[in-house]
Amino acid sequence: MADLQSALAARGLTVFTLPDKGRCLVSSRDFSSGSLSTISNAEEHEMRIFYMAGDVIISQEPYAYVSNNSSDSRCEGCFSSINLKKCSACQVVWYCGSTCQKSDWKLHRLECQALAQLSNDRRKLLTPSIRLMVRLYLRRKLQSEQVIPTTATDNYDLVEALVDHMSDIDEQQLVLYAQMANLVNLILKWPEMNIKDITGNFSKLACNAHTICDSELRPLGTGLYPVVSIINHSCLPNSVLVFEGSLAVVRAVQPIPRGNEILISYIETAGSTMTRQKALKEQYLFTCACPRCLKVGLYEDIQESAILEGYGCEDDKCRGFLLRDSDDKAFVCQQCGLVRNKDEVKKIAREVKLMSDKASTSLSSGYYLEASNMYKAIEQLQLKMCHSLSLNLMRTRETLLKILMELKDWRGALMYCRLTIPIYQRVYPRIHPLLGLQYYTCGKLEWLLGETENAIKTLTNALDILRITHGTNTSFTRDLLIKLEEAHAEASYKLSSNDDQ
Ligand SMILES: [Zn+2]
Ligand SMILES: [Zn+2]
Ligand SMILES: [Zn+2]
Ligand SMILES: [Zn+2]
Repeated sequence: MADLQSALAARGLTVFTLPDKGRCLVSSRDFSSGSLSTISNAEEHEMRIFYMAGDVIISQEPYAYVSNNSSDSRCEGCFSSINLKKCSACQVVWYCGSTCQKSDWKLHRLECQALAQLSNDRRKLLTPSIRLMVRLYLRRKLQSEQVIPTTATDNYDLVEALVDHMSDIDEQQLVLYAQMANLVNLILKWPEMNIKDITGNFSKLACNAHTICDSELRPLGTGLYPVVSIINHSCLPNSVLVFEGSLAVVRAVQPIPRGNEILISYIETAGSTMTRQKALKEQYLFTCACPRCLKVGLYEDIQESAILEGYGCEDDKCRGFLLRDSDDKAFVCQQCGLVRNKDEVKKIAREVKLMSDKASTSLSSGYYLEASNMYKAIEQLQLKMCHSLSLNLMRTRETLLKILMELKDWRGALMYCRLTIPIYQRVYPRIHPLLGLQYYTCGKLEWLLGETENAIKTLTNALDILRITHGTNTSFTRDLLIKLEEAHAEASYKLSSNDDQ
């Protein structure tokens, strides 16, 4: 712990332990660098004691990680899905080439031996969680034998220190973890192995492991990052976690003064307080007490929930939100007073549910045209039923955007992308990766359709956000910059050729 504290102190961070919250990562930033000569003294002082938006607070390689091989195969080293070759000995792990295979070899050599002796039936049970647990134990073994070096931020003691919430887990879940632990035990066959210890570690992974995503937030794998795991959750976080390959990078999205806690979000923060609290309780086993959650029950919070997850006014020009009447038989518009029959709303809701099941089946079977027609019909029903800023309507439009992209219907995709943006602006803070990515998609579509001026505006909006959340020095942001420069070049070319005429 002392080693960790001094490693963190060098980065302007410290770990506090609070009785009600457990461990917290707190900014202790106070750098007295004298080289910031181009800025004024007040600004210089601020930069020394604040993390500024876009600053990397901490970055960490995983203690152990696995690629997500359930839908399509990925390289165990870099998550690439092209030119893959299966490891011939175990027939479980894929690599894109010898570089990734070599860099994983110390660990995979042991993993390979363990997996190769499994029967085909048992091999089918190898979920990413099981494989992550096997890798966790193998890495501990290699570190204890000094085959892999340990550092202050990379050692098994940090895994030991993570919370497991064992006393809060229900019986059914514990039985499942014990079964999984049994399989890990059968794979490793270590005499000193203890099922209870592995069970506890499954519980640890459930509330501490992170889904590794690409720059566009599509899942690639799962990893355990014991220092990043110290960072607590807020539904209104001051920092964001993104990944560069398997490297976890936490960046500030707003100035964070010395003494303030570093906070990221563990869940999708678009949702009513009840929805967010439920998600946090179910997966992370705690009750959030962030400033957003503390508003629960206040008029402002009731209004927000009714807009995001409730129904819309019968008068389609009215933007009011609806609340239940006193005998729970109808909904009343809080703006114009119009009453909406509960049975009528429930009838549409049932229709939507029925159609959604069919639509998602046809989407997962790849029938994009059929799926697009179904989702358009769902959208029409939701327009009748929901508030215009409803999350359900937004999700349907997000799905339509994806389907129309698959169908290369760029005009239609752009229309749906634009329809989602006002809701994104409402449900996410000004600097949020999902808002930045949605602008980026919109800008790329505008550029493709020759709307150069619009593309410049939208790509600039994207860059303003993504340079903070994704950093300025990543290939992802550089690509965005190049697209923006091309759009500017085309706009000035168009302008000059207009002048020539
Ligand atoms: Zn690779
Ligand atoms: Zn192998
Ligand atoms: Zn909260
Ligand atoms: Zn109304």
